Amino acid sequence: SAGSSSSAPVAHNAVPPPPTAAATRSSRIAPHSHIKGLGLNPEGFAIPDSAGFVGQSSAREACGVVVDLVKSRKFSGRALLLVGPPGTGKTALALAIAQELGAKVPFCPMVGSEVYSTEVKKTEVLAEAFRRAIGLRIKETKEVYEGEVTELTPTESENPLSGYGKTVSHVVVGLKTVRGTKQLRLDPSIYEAILKEKIQVGDVIYVEANTGAVKRVGRSDAYASSYDLESETYVPLPKGDVHKRKELVQDVTLGDLDAANARPQGGQDIMSVMGSLVKSGRTEITEKLRREVNRVVKGYVDQGVAEVVPGVVFIDEVHMLDIECFTYLNSLLESQMAPTVIFATNRGKALVRGTTDIYSPHGIPLDMLDRCLIVRTEPYNKEAISKVLQLRANIEGLKLGDGVLDRLATRGADSSLRYALQLLTPASILASIAGRKEIQLEDIDEMGELFLDSKTSSSIIRQHQGGEA
Ligand code: ATP
Repeated sequence: SAGSSSSAPVAHNAVPPPPTAAATRSSRIAPHSHIKGLGLNPEGFAIPDSAGFVGQSSAREACGVVVDLVKSRKFSGRALLLVGPPGTGKTALALAIAQELGAKVPFCPMVGSEVYSTEVKKTEVLAEAFRRAIGLRIKETKEVYEGEVTELTPTESENPLSGYGKTVSHVVVGLKTVRGTKQLRLDPSIYEAILKEKIQVGDVIYVEANTGAVKRVGRSDAYASSYDLESETYVPLPKGDVHKRKELVQDVTLGDLDAANARPQGGQDIMSVMGSLVKSGRTEITEKLRREVNRVVKGYVDQGVAEVVPGVVFIDEVHMLDIECFTYLNSLLESQMAPTVIFATNRGKALVRGTTDIYSPHGIPLDMLDRCLIVRTEPYNKEAISKVLQLRANIEGLKLGDGVLDRLATRGADSSLRYALQLLTPASILASIAGRKEIQLEDIDEMGELFLDSKTSSSIIRQHQGGEA
C-alpha cells in the first residue's frame, strides 16, 4: 500500500493504453490534429488563423476566459455549453481548451447517446468518462547504480528476532566505472538478487535501488577479455558515474487505474504495478473500487509522488442525455475532483429526455442550464472553409490541383464544412487509383456525384415523395 512503502511506483515500460476505449478516443481526436490551441494573444484576443484555428474569434475568446477561470479555480461546479450548427468547431474548441490548460491534460470526448448501452448503466458511462478526464502524473526518481563489480561482501549479523543464527544485514558491493570506484552498502534483498543472477567480481551490473532489481550487463574482465559469452558482446566499463538519478514521469488517468485494478495482471510495467493497488480478484469497476483507488492515489499525492491533473470531459449532443443523467451530472459536477465539463449541442428548445412535458432550451433541464456558460459558434463562410480545407490537406499530405480548393470550398459553403472535409480523403483515393499524386477537379466532381450532402439528399427524397403522392 502507499503508506507502508517509501518507494515510488515503478515504471519500466511505457503505459500500454487500454485498447478499445483509448483507440476510440484517439480516432475521435484525429480529425482535429491541426488544432494546437485557441490561438489567442496574451491579452486574450483571437489571432486570425492561429494554432490551426480559423475564424470563430468570439467563441475562441470566450473559451480563453473559461481557461482562465479554470486555471484560477473559479469554474468548479459549472460547465461550458457550446451551441452551434454541426461542424462549426465545437469539438475543436473543447480540445483546444484542454490543450490550453497544459500539456498532457486528459481530454475525454463522448457523445450523449453513448450512455444508452444495454450492458452498462447510464450513470456508469458518465462516471467512467469523468474518471478518464482526470489525469495522474506520477513522478519517480529512479536511483540506478552501474559499474563493474570489484568486491562482493555480504555482512552478517545476529538475527535480532530469533536470537540465534545469523542473517545478511547488508552487502558491500564495489562498483567501478572509468571515472572511479565506489563502495555501496546495498539491501539484503539486492544481495538475494545478486546470488540468483550468479553475479561475480568482474561482471558489469546495473542495480535499481528502488526495486532491488539487478541485471548483469556483461563482463568486463581485464584478464580474460571483455567478451561476454552469454550476450556475445564486449562490455567496456561504463563511462559515467557509478550513481545515476533518473526522473521518470508517467501520465495515467484515474479511469486507467480503475480498469487496471478491475482486471489486475502480473508484470513489471506501471499499469500492472498500479493495477495491484487494491485487492485483486475483481472484474467490474464498482464505486467501492473507485474509492479505494482514490484513497491510494491520495496517499501518493500526499507523499509528493503523484500530482492530480484535472482534464476536460466533452459531451457532444448533450440533448441526448435524459433527466436521470442530468441529475447525476449535477452531483458529479459537485464532486471534489471534477474535471472541466464542456457540453455541445445544435438543438434549440427541445423536450428534456425522460420527461413528457418539460421543454427547455437545448433539451437541458433548467437547473443544469443555470450552471452553464453558453458560447455560440457561427457557421463558416467560403473563405474560412477554404482555409480549414487547406489546413487539413497539409496535415494529411494531400496535394490539391488547380481550382480544387475553390470547388471544395464552394461545396462546403453550400452544404457544410464537414461535408467538404469528408470529400477530401475519398477524392485522394480516386486520385491515387488514377495514378496521380494530386487531387483534381474531376475527382471532386466524381465524389460529389457519389456522395450527396444532406440538403441535396433530402430534397431528392422530397421530390420523390411528391411524385408518388
Ligand atoms: P458536431 O456538431 O457534428 O459535433 P462540431 O461543431 O463539433 O460538429 P468539429 O468536429 O469541431 O465540429 O469540426 C469539424 C471539423 O472541422 C474538424 O476537423 C475540426 O477540427 C475542423 N474545424 C472546425 N472549425 C474549425 C476552425 N474554426 N478552424 C480550424 N478547423 C476547424
